[in-house]
Amino acid sequence: MKIRKNWRLGLIGYPLTHSYSPLIHQTALGNSGLTGTYTLFSLPNPQQIGPVVAKLRSGKLDGLNVTIPYKREVIQYLDGLTTSAQVIGAVNTIFLKDERLIGDNTDASGFSQYLEHCSTGHTFFSDHALVLGAGGAACSVVYALNIQGWEVTIAARRLTQATLLSESFHHPNLHTAHWEAVTNHSFLKNFSLLVNTTPVGMAPNIDQSPLGDDVALPAGMLVFDLIYNPPKTRLLQLAEKNKTTAINGLGMLLHQAVLSFEIWTGIKVPVEKMQEVLNQKLELEEER
Ligand code: NAP
Repeated sequence: MKIRKNWRLGLIGYPLTHSYSPLIHQTALGNSGLTGTYTLFSLPNPQQIGPVVAKLRSGKLDGLNVTIPYKREVIQYLDGLTTSAQVIGAVNTIFLKDERLIGDNTDASGFSQYLEHCSTGHTFFSDHALVLGAGGAACSVVYALNIQGWEVTIAARRLTQATLLSESFHHPNLHTAHWEAVTNHSFLKNFSLLVNTTPVGMAPNIDQSPLGDDVALPAGMLVFDLIYNPPKTRLLQLAEKNKTTAINGLGMLLHQAVLSFEIWTGIKVPVEKMQEVLNQKLELEEER
């Protein structure tokens, strides 16, 4: 009799209180007819990373996700990186291949897949994108936009952080801008895509926005906020007020998770089905 594999997946990071990953991956397992668990390893101390990663090497785990603040820190425990993880310098997915622990980064592909999905039928009036923030998520976004051929400007409140990120890619189509510039319409009007990678506006600080409420956005701009809680940030409310297209980060979260799941199990889960489950969860949370 063939024994059914029990998939043991998990996530390391800290804090993990509000993570949607267990819901996404349990839904993915159920949808694929697989059984298994997705465990949250909430690790306040970075020294706890090694022992959890070792479970993957010893076969006690089949797949591991990594989130803030350990996406860079975890690299020292791995044997190799995929090209995207290497260029971005951060890992969100770990798998064992030929007895080697490999780190991958599905945030970038998750972002580009979802952007492509949302921009079907949308005409961009220029190939200039503005990225707000220059932290970990910005690295993945800039990497993905570079591959898609965008001319990218990074604006960060610390210009040196934007400059370091820009220089790390050695790419000619990358520029930096002062944070103060982003509220100026004559500056903004050049960009047909705006991506917020800062946590400004994320719960519980839902009254904040990286742009003021009176900033005029150019018609036809697509505004992508990586935040998904709340689903409609103040920035996305501004985008709607300006009649531009507004997208939140839920689809990116879902796409990166589906890509991780495929790396571990070889199964491609239908994203639309998963989106329904997540939307229901978010609606329930909003009602509370
Ligand atoms: P991070 O590495 O800490 O980077 C955050 C960036 O935002 C930094 O450049 C930071 O600048 C800047 N920033 C923070 N507060 C700011 C403020 N008040 N004004 C201007 N800039 C500010 O964080 P991350 O990992 O990139 O995550 C950023 C956001 O993306 C979070 O909301 C996270 O939930 C979201 N995210 C979503 C997904 C998804 O799948 N949808 C994936 C990854 C991340 P300083 O360094 O100067 O503070």
